[in-house]
Amino acid sequence: MTAEVIAVSEEASERFQPLQERGQRAVFCGLTSIIWLHRKIQDAFFLVVGSRTCAHLIQSAAGVMIFAEPRFGTAVLGDRDLAGMADCNEELDRVVAQVLARRPELKSIFLVGSCPSEVIKLDLDNAAGRLSRAYDGQVRFVAYSGSGIETTFTQGEDNCLASLAAGLPIATDTEERLLVVGTVPDIVEDQFRRLFQQLGIDAVDFFPGSQSTDLPAVGPNTRLLLAQPFLGETLRALESRGGRLISAPFPLGAEGSEAWFRAAADAFGVEPQTQDSVLSAPRQRAEAALSTYREELADKSFTMLPDSQLEIPLARFLSRECGMTPREVGTPYFDARVMEAEVPLLPEGVDWVEGQDLDPALDRVRAVRPDLTVCGLGIANPLEAEGLRTKWSIELLFTPIQGFEQAGDLAELFARPLRREQALEVGSWS
Ligand code: SF4
Repeated sequence: MTAEVIAVSEEASERFQPLQERGQRAVFCGLTSIIWLHRKIQDAFFLVVGSRTCAHLIQSAAGVMIFAEPRFGTAVLGDRDLAGMADCNEELDRVVAQVLARRPELKSIFLVGSCPSEVIKLDLDNAAGRLSRAYDGQVRFVAYSGSGIETTFTQGEDNCLASLAAGLPIATDTEERLLVVGTVPDIVEDQFRRLFQQLGIDAVDFFPGSQSTDLPAVGPNTRLLLAQPFLGETLRALESRGGRLISAPFPLGAEGSEAWFRAAADAFGVEPQTQDSVLSAPRQRAEAALSTYREELADKSFTMLPDSQLEIPLARFLSRECGMTPREVGTPYFDARVMEAEVPLLPEGVDWVEGQDLDPALDRVRAVRPDLTVCGLGIANPLEAEGLRTKWSIELLFTPIQGFEQAGDLAELFARPLRREQALEVGSWS
């Protein structure tokens, strides 16, 4: 797959010399993001229009329990559909009716495109429009692509939110409101809300929220604060409705969280003294939690293979707050605006790669042999077999990692594989 190359900002180009690679990739497709999206948006169903492979992928990624009634499923395209011998729209209508008969409480159904639905050019936007009219006032239908031809796993969320953003109401408020953009677990949302309130920022919405019907209005007085770094398309969709970005590092670690809150507070005119009094205690707690792991992580080296688009903020966190040394930081896409506040915080001279060409990337890992390689699930096992310690990047999406209270947990995710190595060396498991 080739990807659009987004121009690297002049400042970033001067500071870093990114190697741009295009070649074989080993990344989950965008369907994977359904796992965290369906947990967050609690009145929605995600209907993948795909193959049995797609169904297996999300079921195994979700670890579905046999008795669970999950809020996602797959309308499997059969041979007759793929050969163009059946009317896929009729089939889709039938499956939707079945889903709604079982789950009448649903308020939204996402029709999620896949490789097979793209190959046969099934128009899911049209289908969503038709079904929205058919179920007018009861259920809203939104289509987006999670296909592996088009998306890496976090881009699934970006496509989902960008589709939702296109239908958000236009805000007419004269007062500024803050919109936090990107899926964060409810526990993190609650912590963020409390701190914003203490800072005096009461008009705060989260996108997505836990109810798909609870859609924030967006307009020129909406200030956008990204909680996740892989939301370039969503950002552009919100900006096209008038929203204005607050440029900030991402809320990972004590330093990142403080900078994120301060950026919002500055944008809302909160006095520095108020910022200090609200943020100093959580920052100290986060630093105390981090200190437990800093000793284990300091002076260890790491490589980030391109996977989640979290790589740049994570590399900043690991190097500045945990004392680790980056050998190479790869990211599947680099969006200069989204990363504007992060790039200057990366250590000088780090090897930096945009895109992916798997074999040369693995060769470099083998040559450097970092203490830890953060990578996709499919690459981790072969590297482990070669005696290299790895961390699955997908865990960073399934685990609450944002904010002050999660800073210690975030560091622990990276300390665990190193501890395992020590345990193996002494011949016992801790
Ligand atoms: S969308 Fe494509 S890459 Fe993803 S599981 Fe389905 S067939 Fe595989």
